[in-house]
Amino acid sequence: MTVTPDRPTPHAAAANPAAPTIIDRFVGANREYAVTFQDGGMDARPVQKIAVVACMDARLDLFAALGLELGDAHVIRNAGGVVTDDTIRSLTISQRALGTRSIALIHHTGCGLLGLTEDFRRELEAEVGQRPQWAVEAFVDLDGDVRQSMQRVRTSPFLLHTDDVRGFVFDVHTGLLREIH
Ligand SMILES: [Zn+2]
Repeated sequence: MTVTPDRPTPHAAAANPAAPTIIDRFVGANREYAVTFQDGGMDARPVQKIAVVACMDARLDLFAALGLELGDAHVIRNAGGVVTDDTIRSLTISQRALGTRSIALIHHTGCGLLGLTEDFRRELEAEVGQRPQWAVEAFVDLDGDVRQSMQRVRTSPFLLHTDDVRGFVFDVHTGLLREIH
């Protein structure tokens, strides 16, 4: 496995220096967005009192898939949708400062973390000469990792509400959630 992906060559970048980058497109799209943007006057407390922890996968459109509207939920995303110390940090702030009570954990089929191992860390250290502080949190068993994530949330001493914690696997081919018990 290659840790460092192919980078664009300087030659390719120099071929058309005026070509807009994807971030240039963001800036243009945002100007159009702001033209029709309506300030709903919401405060920072999520209307549905829920926090969702999900993978960063580009095929997972959480708001559409879960019927969420702007202002409804906190969305915490990372590689794998795993429950790390930083996920607990966000969930703790979500509950204690911003009033959420429910937590949904969402992994998905075809996740990039499936099949990765802690070798990733060792190879990274060999390449850059520095050991990462973080674990890769790779997994081979999707359902098992959802269960472990639910367990980490339910046993966290920092959270106020752990009675409504549910875990799911999202199927990227059908768009359906499957609940893990
Ligand atoms: Zn994923």
